[in-house]
Amino acid sequence: MREDVAVKEQVARPQEKSALPQKMSLYDNVVRQFSKAADLMRLDPDIRKILGRTTNEIVVTFPVKMDDGRIEMFTGYRVQHNNALGPFKGGLRYHPSVEIDEVRALATWMTWKSAIVNVPFGGAKGGIQLDPSSCDLRELERITRRFTFALGNNIGPEYDIPAPDVNTNPQIMAWIVDTYLSTIPPHERQASGHVVTGKPVELGGSLGRDKATGQGVVFTIEQWAKDNSFDLKGATYTVQGFGNVGSWVARLLKPQGSKLIAVEDVTGAISDSKGIDPDDLAKYVRQHGGLVGYPKISPIDHDAFFQTKADIFIPAALENQITADTAPLLNVKLVAEGANGPTDPEGDRVLEERRIDVIPDILCNSGGVIVSYFEWLQNKRSEFWDLEEVDAKLHKKIINGYQRVRDTARSFNTDWRTAAYIVALSRLETVYKERGIFP
Ligand code: NAD
Repeated sequence: MREDVAVKEQVARPQEKSALPQKMSLYDNVVRQFSKAADLMRLDPDIRKILGRTTNEIVVTFPVKMDDGRIEMFTGYRVQHNNALGPFKGGLRYHPSVEIDEVRALATWMTWKSAIVNVPFGGAKGGIQLDPSSCDLRELERITRRFTFALGNNIGPEYDIPAPDVNTNPQIMAWIVDTYLSTIPPHERQASGHVVTGKPVELGGSLGRDKATGQGVVFTIEQWAKDNSFDLKGATYTVQGFGNVGSWVARLLKPQGSKLIAVEDVTGAISDSKGIDPDDLAKYVRQHGGLVGYPKISPIDHDAFFQTKADIFIPAALENQITADTAPLLNVKLVAEGANGPTDPEGDRVLEERRIDVIPDILCNSGGVIVSYFEWLQNKRSEFWDLEEVDAKLHKKIINGYQRVRDTARSFNTDWRTAAYIVALSRLETVYKERGIFP
């Protein structure tokens, strides 16, 4: 049994309105977005108190033996924001910048995301403060397994279900499943494989999960184009981040006849007005770990990347990229947010003033959690759906969410991010009112 695997620390829950630090933190962005929507929709003050806080914040430190025999200490996080609609759900991120405030923000966005597209999950997020490029595959496996062990019963197939995020992938999910199953009683193992989603397909993963977030982004862009009588054939787009989300968006827009003209990742940026082949670039990035050195295309700097004139910009890297400094540089009609939190509140204000449309992250990138839900369902029912079925169901769910957000933006005469919050908060408010508060 796993009772001996204790939570290292349960830190205090955040207040909805805290004294703002000198520099706005990611969670401050969430608080500002939340407050704007809650004020506009006149969210019940009691429900506001509940949703303005996270439920559990777990911080674990754990030792790992490195290849050279040295012991290294690591810090891992899991924040569970809310589970009124279903089990906690959200990705795991391996990145040097991972800390409690960032994870708290990402966990909270997960709650809103699942509520908008009506999947029966709550919100959570986690990760390890780690630069994965600083360790080899065997070390990464030991770090992952030790982190899973340290989390213990704080994750579980009906309680809290991790998934891939920045710098994590199906292989890492496979190690988590194996470690988790090895530490629960044998008779529970067969029925517990859905403790994570985003697994390799052979291990119970869903067809279509790998591309799901990018596919969802593309479905929302297609709907936006339809609503605005905009022809995607011949349209130009730029992508920041060419990992799972960015590369899939780029590749799935290609068959529409749209043209990728600039890309930036952590290694640099490139642009070509004649068009960059996303499939070829994805192959290069897989082989070289980044786009730097991609042949025959000129590198550009960060500002030039932001200034590239295009129809659509897809941020698919990290948060706080579109700010008061960078939003004025953008020369696009639409920002489709593949990343979580790519636009800060000042960036939002500039985009609104400049009448640039935004499909907000909590709607736009919800394809990942939607197909994670399908994977979870298939595991529970011992089913295996084909790709057409997964894609059709994804399309239906994300477009329903899109239409709810669009209609809410119209009826409240507000921006789409605030409208997306209102959709989520209304659903949660109804559920809390129906359930009541124990005791
Ligand atoms: P990934 O690790 O596969 O790719 C991240 C990409 O961002 C890489 O190309 C990397 O080079 C680039 N990047 C990192 N730092 C950068 C910087 N400073 N400037 C420019 N580029 C930089 O991660 P991912 O899974 O594609 O996630 C990307 C974003 O999408 C994150 O915000 C994540 O939370 C969000 N997201 C991911 C999923 C999913 O299913 N993977 C679902 C929803 C949202």
